[in-house]
Amino acid sequence: MKNRIAIYPGSFDPVTNGHMDIIRRGLEIFDRVIIAVARNSEKNSLFCVQERVGLINLLIADNPQLEVVTFDGLLVDYVVSRQAGVILRGLRAVSDFEYEFQLAQMNRSISQKVETLFMMTSTQNGYLSSSIVKEVASLGGDINKFVPPQVADALRKKFA
Ligand code: ADP
Repeated sequence: MKNRIAIYPGSFDPVTNGHMDIIRRGLEIFDRVIIAVARNSEKNSLFCVQERVGLINLLIADNPQLEVVTFDGLLVDYVVSRQAGVILRGLRAVSDFEYEFQLAQMNRSISQKVETLFMMTSTQNGYLSSSIVKEVASLGGDINKFVPPQVADALRKKFA
């Protein structure tokens, strides 16, 4: 059997239940999922890259099929360097589609060796994004339903 590896790239500022759901479902299809935090997403972020990686590590610590990394530069180059071949992305609303479509087309034109696979969000996460969670947390709202407990704690500390 081939060792099927997917790269799941994003900002993860911070990781939410929506991301964790895509990761869990990704493991039903792939032997390994590498969560790749973009270093170029540092600008305007709440958590620095190391904090974001640290939070994800807390959540995946005991699973040898998962790994969290940071990457610089072109995503497709990183994907090829890890011998992955597949970029995993999540889709929520139609509003995600246009950007994701453009990104997938661009990545495909840079490298024909890399395929992008989209997974539809689970119903309960359809409205969930890192931005909306940060906004609710900044206003003192309850975020326990949207993020793992470790992330909720980190958000509360940021806005304390
Ligand atoms: P980016 O800045 O690259 O969009 P994000 O961290 O916001 O990074 O998202 C990473 C990936 O996870 C994207 O493909 C995004 O569509 C997906 N994603 C984010 N939230 C959800 C969710 N609630 N359900 C499904 N997919 C999601």
